[in-house]
Amino acid sequence: MAFNLFASKDGRRSWLRPTLIPAAIALVVIVAAGFFADRQNSIISQERSRSTVLDQVAVIRAKLEGNINGNIQLVRGLVSTISTEPDMDQTRFAALASNLFEEQSQLRSLAGAPNLVIKLMYPMEGNAQAIGLNYRTNDAQRAAAFLARDSGKLVLAGPIDLLQGGRAFIGRFPVYVDGTGKKQFWGIVSAVVDVDRLYADSGLLDPNLPLDISITATDPATHLKYRFFGPDLTGTDAVTATVLVPSGGWEIAAQPKGGWGVTPNAWMLRLGMVVSALLILWPIVVTGRMVGERQQHFRVLKDREAELERLSRRLGLALDSSQVGVWETDIATGALVWDARMNELYGLPEDGGQRGYNHWRDTLHPDDLVQAEADFALALRTGSYRSEFRVVHKDGSSRNIRAIGAVYVDTDGAPKILGVNWDVTADVALNADLKRAKELTEARNHELELARVRIEHNALHDSLTELPNRRYLDDVLRGHAATGYRGSGSIALLHIDLDRFKQINDTLGHAAGDAMLIHAAQVLQHNCRPGDFVARIGGDEFVVMSSANDGDSELAALADRIVQQMRQPATYEGHQCRFGVSIGIAVERGAALDVKRLLINADIALYRAKGRGRNRFEFFSAALQAEVVKTKRVADEILSGLERNEFIAFYQPQFDAHTLDIVGVEALARWQHPTLGLKSPDAFLAIAEELNVVATIDRLILEQSLADLDRWAAAGIDVPRASVNVSLRRLHDEDLIRGLRQLDIQPGRISFELVESIYLDENDAIVGWNIDQIKDLGIDIEIDDFGTGYASIVSLQKLRPKRLKIDKQLVDPIVEEPGQRRLLASIVDIGKSMGIEVVAEGVETMVQARLLRELGCDILQGYAFARPMSASDLAGFITEQRWRKAS
Ligand code: C2E
Ligand code: CA
Ligand code: CA
Repeated sequence: MAFNLFASKDGRRSWLRPTLIPAAIALVVIVAAGFFADRQNSIISQERSRSTVLDQVAVIRAKLEGNINGNIQLVRGLVSTISTEPDMDQTRFAALASNLFEEQSQLRSLAGAPNLVIKLMYPMEGNAQAIGLNYRTNDAQRAAAFLARDSGKLVLAGPIDLLQGGRAFIGRFPVYVDGTGKKQFWGIVSAVVDVDRLYADSGLLDPNLPLDISITATDPATHLKYRFFGPDLTGTDAVTATVLVPSGGWEIAAQPKGGWGVTPNAWMLRLGMVVSALLILWPIVVTGRMVGERQQHFRVLKDREAELERLSRRLGLALDSSQVGVWETDIATGALVWDARMNELYGLPEDGGQRGYNHWRDTLHPDDLVQAEADFALALRTGSYRSEFRVVHKDGSSRNIRAIGAVYVDTDGAPKILGVNWDVTADVALNADLKRAKELTEARNHELELARVRIEHNALHDSLTELPNRRYLDDVLRGHAATGYRGSGSIALLHIDLDRFKQINDTLGHAAGDAMLIHAAQVLQHNCRPGDFVARIGGDEFVVMSSANDGDSELAALADRIVQQMRQPATYEGHQCRFGVSIGIAVERGAALDVKRLLINADIALYRAKGRGRNRFEFFSAALQAEVVKTKRVADEILSGLERNEFIAFYQPQFDAHTLDIVGVEALARWQHPTLGLKSPDAFLAIAEELNVVATIDRLILEQSLADLDRWAAAGIDVPRASVNVSLRRLHDEDLIRGLRQLDIQPGRISFELVESIYLDENDAIVGWNIDQIKDLGIDIEIDDFGTGYASIVSLQKLRPKRLKIDKQLVDPIVEEPGQRRLLASIVDIGKSMGIEVVAEGVETMVQARLLRELGCDILQGYAFARPMSASDLAGFITEQRWRKAS
């Protein structure tokens, strides 16, 4: 901002505007002139009144002088007389004085003091008390008297207050007498002049006197000035005059009454001056104001000019940096103006040459021509222009141009259209890129969506059968749990497990297994009603979820259909595959649907179905539930019992049928239950089987048997052999032999009892190999429970056991039934023929024992001789040979 003399710091105009300067100067001049005139006026008027006062004072001065000198002259005559008559007496003095008093004067009294002591007086009356006053001793009058004597001149003093009242001037005249050759001092004559009379006679007391007058005298003795009349006028501009009196002069000072006062015409003069000042100032102010306004306008104009310049500079910069070209067309004449940028945009030389519509149209890309012209035509109609098109340069390159504009009417009234063009090639390219990228992204998203759907489908479906999987089932069940099954709250789950599926997989391969699973899935789908939900939830396990509204009989019918159809053989590559299914059904009726419970219940029912011999279905029931709960408890106890070594071996002795010597013992598992006491295998074996711990129990019993055999041997108790029961599972165990090798087993001391059904059914390679290895280890093989299973003569030949044990069921009836005896006899014969010893178990009576011996049995075992007993009991039993006493 330019520095402005008249602007305050914050830019506001000061009260002193430059336009007011002439007015201000004029004001100063007028005021100065006014003051001068006013002053002149007052000086003139003062001088006038001064001369008036002077005139009046001169009159008073003259009167005073005349009066005082008149009085003195009167007294001088008396003094001259006394000089010649020094011995004058009172009478003579009074006579002379009375003559004086007849004259017009202000004399009040006269006193003669020969030798400074008053002796003469006139008038005596009123003044007698002064007679005898000695000037030498009178303090008040001594100085004046001596002065008069010593100076030889009249001394006028006063005014003083008189003893007899009033005030007076006293003139003291020294009197000398002519002596011998020289004058001799006689004394003093005092003349008392009445002050009031003197003043009055001199005109000082005239009430019409328009003056303040003061009179000052100089004390002849002290030479000090003192004022004896009028107010103090020192310091005022009083007019003065000197009254010549003996022994110095009096000074008269005078001024008009109340001071010199105001010039009488001053206010008129001043008013006149103010009016004329106003008359002078007003046009100056008005003119100044107009000049100021003009200057203001000029400033605004300059500001605008600067603003315009700034704006156009900005616009120029903006146009420059934004690469915008500006054009303007006169609509009427078609005259076109292009700036340099426009030419550049359209690839034309910046030669300032005239441009026309053709320049524009001819540069347009042929494909965009029609639309661009239409846009322009529309702009002429609507007044607003907006278009985008390509232009082709001479070198063949093209640019994308965006154009906007608006119609306006120029100051000369010509309608014009003004607009801008700019290059949007990069934008267009970018947009195209973005569009491509967007399309690409969308395509990718679509693929991702498909993948997601696929993944979701895979996550919820079994890839082999395309059935919903376990997760899907769980989701659906959860959904039903939340809503209640289709609002009815009644739902059934069929848990379906394929029987013998493992064998198909193992024997025909996984492809066959897969085919069977697909087949099973189809069977299920065909048999289910619409709305039922079929899922494969595990290897060979399926679930059908169905409404239970129609009752259990409907569900039973459905389950039965499935069972029947699954039994039908399915062919795979020419092979007839047979498998069956077990089905557990759980039904839930009621609002609160516990899906977890439902699944568990179906599983329990399935388990029961399998337990009851497969190819069947079972409903879940409360009784089943109770059983399961119990089984579960026992199972837990078995596991902890195993950890706490609660499983022990009991031994039941076996006897030579003829000699009744002990030939061995059968080790039988017992469970020393912590609360329920000793438990037989029927209380735990089945559950242990389910828990898959029978093999563990077998091994424990074997190890205990070995240890007990050693212990008995050490105790000198002869137990030649111990037979242990071996479960099917154990025979399947590939590590069985390795485990057995680690044990110290002497040949013939241990015998393995295999249940008939085990090996005769199996043609498992491992089982066969294991049995051979067992034999090689010097362990006897016995066939247990012979006569209850399907053992064939062929399999006996194949297995070549050391012994076979005739089951108790065959032994029991031999006393009563001769036929049974014959059956037993033939079994004994077969055994003998094959070199196999025959053991009879479950021998409960001595009659049986005798019969069995007669029939040819080699070894007897049963309650008739001994029940199973603990190892220590057995030791006592053998030592005491108790059985012999019994038999
Ligand atoms: P098992 O192998 O047939 O055992 C003979 C069973 O008959 C034993 O029952 C025994 O006490 C009983 N017994 C013996 N003589 C008589 C008799 O005169 N009259 C009657 N009524 N019964 C008699 P226990 O000990 O209850 O064993 C039952 C079954 O449990 C055994 O039948 C056997 O199959 C199995 N078992 C026992 N211990 C084990 C073992 O350690 N491992 C395996 N895998 N199974 C075992
Ligand atoms: Ca046995
Ligand atoms: Ca048996």
